[in-house]
Amino acid sequence: TKMALSQIGLVGLAVMGQNLSLNIAEKGFPISVFNRSYEKTEAAVARAQKEGLSDKLRGYKDVKDFVESLEKPRRVILLVQAGAPVDATVDNLCKYMEPGDIIIDGGNEWYENTERRKAKVEALGLRYMGMGVSGGEEGARRGPSMMPGGTAEAYKYIEPIVTKVAAQVDDGPCVMYIGDGGAGNYVKMVHNGIEYGDMQLISEAYDVLHVLGGLSNDEIAAVFAEWNQGELQSFLIEISAIIAAKKDEDGSSLVDKIVDKTGAKGTGKWTVQQAAELSVAAPTITASLDGRYMSALKDQRVSASKVFGDLGLKAPAAAAGVDKKQLIADVRAALYCSKICSYAQGMNIIKAKSEEKEWGVDLGGLARIWKAKSEEKEWGVDLGGLARIWKAKSEEKEWGVDLGGLARIWKGGCIIRAGFLDRIKQAYQRDSNLPSLLVDPPFAKDLAERDAAWRRVVALAVTNGVPAPGMMASLSYFDTYRRERLPANLVQAQRDFFGSHTYQRTDKEGWFHTVWDENF
Ligand code: NAP
Repeated sequence: TKMALSQIGLVGLAVMGQNLSLNIAEKGFPISVFNRSYEKTEAAVARAQKEGLSDKLRGYKDVKDFVESLEKPRRVILLVQAGAPVDATVDNLCKYMEPGDIIIDGGNEWYENTERRKAKVEALGLRYMGMGVSGGEEGARRGPSMMPGGTAEAYKYIEPIVTKVAAQVDDGPCVMYIGDGGAGNYVKMVHNGIEYGDMQLISEAYDVLHVLGGLSNDEIAAVFAEWNQGELQSFLIEISAIIAAKKDEDGSSLVDKIVDKTGAKGTGKWTVQQAAELSVAAPTITASLDGRYMSALKDQRVSASKVFGDLGLKAPAAAAGVDKKQLIADVRAALYCSKICSYAQGMNIIKAKSEEKEWGVDLGGLARIWKAKSEEKEWGVDLGGLARIWKAKSEEKEWGVDLGGLARIWKGGCIIRAGFLDRIKQAYQRDSNLPSLLVDPPFAKDLAERDAAWRRVVALAVTNGVPAPGMMASLSYFDTYRRERLPANLVQAQRDFFGSHTYQRTDKEGWFHTVWDENF
């Protein structure tokens, strides 16, 4: 007898593809899978068997058989390496797919590639979408945050599936149609830029507490676990607590043994390039990218520390007279304020691009789909236990996240998922044209209340030679944005001096040029 057709197909069975296909099967949608090399298909089929999903997942060795196993219009998600492999895969599929069929690229693709491929397959009568998927391996398996963009009428064919497969939060599934063209990939790119910022800022908090506050890794683990109960609650804080507490086989801290060099795959760099392209300032995200580049210069840093050590500039060490309890509270405030600045920058990049391309991205909705359900996680780690470690080690006690929709879809599944995104969703629901998150009244109040603590942390870091580029860039961004008058008058005068670029005046309308000095 002829087998029933699958409702959806997936190509690319590496980490992301295997896990997402199992997730789709588990949600009750019969799925066909295919991979260039057959071993990964076999591995996916074996996993489905092991998880009792073999009646829902079928592997194919031949792309023609794979395509013919799908219900029409055919829906095929790609999770292959971004770039040329996607072109090769699309060309391969196009040989057998028919008008009306839909290809959805779920990879971290450059948005213009998606727009190019969309135009190409549309000429064949096919439809194309680019869908950002966040949450890593575990998110793909249990419920990611998904950011589909492209042909709007194609979305209705995948909507019933993706809404079930996405992470589920209190205000809905972490997926929404983002906008035309490459909007889905674009938003995912900025999501990753924001992710860079969060990671950098958390590493700076760790550095200040560890080096200047003299806190042990166990103490830091407990501090992060405590912070995860409040305004900083997020997936990245949660995993950072776990990382800080992790012991190597010999009982020592594992994190101390990890080489201080950071990898990167390009989405952070693209975000910074796009910010510059759009004339949007994104200093915190830029600082986090620069932080990764500088980290890679390990050999140079080792040499330079010797050069300056010999000149009397020693490596930073525990600062004298630091009140640990106060420092922990201050760093918590500095991290929160810096984070608001970072998200404000990311949202402004999306807003600027959405206006340029007329995508109509709902920023509030985005915040919603980026939100997460951290209660669902089973890390097997006793966060309360971490808090007790800290208490046992210290006598001191009680130390004390429509753009709105975007914030909503980032609430669950994705790497930047956080309670904080609810507040961003609300900010854009109050005012969809909010110029910056910094001036949303609740956020503004939060910033003002924490202003002094933020400055204390940055000052302490500066005084003691601990680099905190993310926190510092955020503070300078804040100070610049809230300043009525900047020294840009001097820059404009200089531009007029050497280039006759003209200037405007504070006391009269019009553009003026001055001969500043007859000798020039
Ligand atoms: P990946 O390492 O980016 O890609 C491996 C997959 O691409 C394999 O299925 C491989 O097939 C296929 N591939 C490579 N070159 C090919 C070619 N020329 N023709 C056909 N297929 C080719 O896999 P991944 O980490 O699972 O990521 C998939 C996508 O999701 C990427 O765009 C990635 O950036 C994105 N993403 C990843 C994560 C994550 O946490 N890993 C999170 C979010 C998004 P073979 O097995 O035959 O080599």
